[in-house]
Amino acid sequence: WQRLTHGMRRTSSSLSESVTNLFTKRKLDAATLEDLEDALVQADLGVQTAMQITKAISAGRYDKEIAPDEVKAILASEVEKTLAPVAVPLTLDRSKKPFVILMIGVNGAGKTTTIGKLAQKFRHQGLTVMLAAGDTFRAAAIEQLKVWGERVGAPVLAREQGADAAGLAFDALQQAKANGSDVLLIDTAGRLQNKAGLMSELEKIVRVIKKFDDTAPHATLLVLDATVGQNAMSQVELFQKAAGVTGLVMTKLDGTARGGILVALAAKFGLPVHFIGVGEGVEDLEPFDARDFARAIVG
Ligand code: GDP
Repeated sequence: WQRLTHGMRRTSSSLSESVTNLFTKRKLDAATLEDLEDALVQADLGVQTAMQITKAISAGRYDKEIAPDEVKAILASEVEKTLAPVAVPLTLDRSKKPFVILMIGVNGAGKTTTIGKLAQKFRHQGLTVMLAAGDTFRAAAIEQLKVWGERVGAPVLAREQGADAAGLAFDALQQAKANGSDVLLIDTAGRLQNKAGLMSELEKIVRVIKKFDDTAPHATLLVLDATVGQNAMSQVELFQKAAGVTGLVMTKLDGTARGGILVALAAKFGLPVHFIGVGEGVEDLEPFDARDFARAIVG
């Protein structure tokens, strides 16, 4: 929570400043509402949400004076309202053994790190976890996943760089089944430079997993880097098409985050947001909480 508020400080202080400047000793009129809407769009909340929020603020208050704190309170409550439906925890169906989680997202978003953090959470719940190093394009990604596996006590199936990722995913499923693993986390490549290649590889991985178990993957989690701002919107569309996203994880909310984008994502896609990343350490993955997040945005 502290890291989240710290990371979001840039967003929250500029929003807070705008609200204070706009509403101190001024009437709520068309001009102030327009300026407020601009500030909300600037904070990455999206045009649709910005309009909805300004509407809520102006309802019954038009042409009256309104205190900045009151505006902030309504703002926080509207943001929370948008986020609440997507604040859905990730639940594992224990009848699926292994419960297969496919991790997708562009390079650098934090997939491998999030896999390590998730594996640690599951291990703490007493579950056995297996990892598959499906980002076979980058030697560093394979090595990094092995390090995470060792750290959290999860076996890692890895092949040499350039190996077929779908084949590896299939073998990982077989091994996880044979070992009686509770959860299998599959890493994937995220080369945005080659969208067609990325899409066809993900499609192939999903196809191969389904051949093994037609109810799998049981979760397909898209990892998004909060610092990319509006770019996150097109990433969701791309990965929805390629692999069918069931939930989101937003990382790097501890940094110079532009976390307002999560509000725009919630309004546009309504996909569950399971976790947020607030640091590079193994424990720095928090369940997503709509109220905390709304408070962090508004400051
Ligand atoms: P991948 O290419 O998607 O697998 O991304 P990585 O897991 O390799 O992460 C890329 C970089 O982002 C690494 O330096 C991670 O330590 C860092 N990272 C991942 N998640 C977070 C987070 O929540 N906060 C911060 N500050 N850094 C993160």
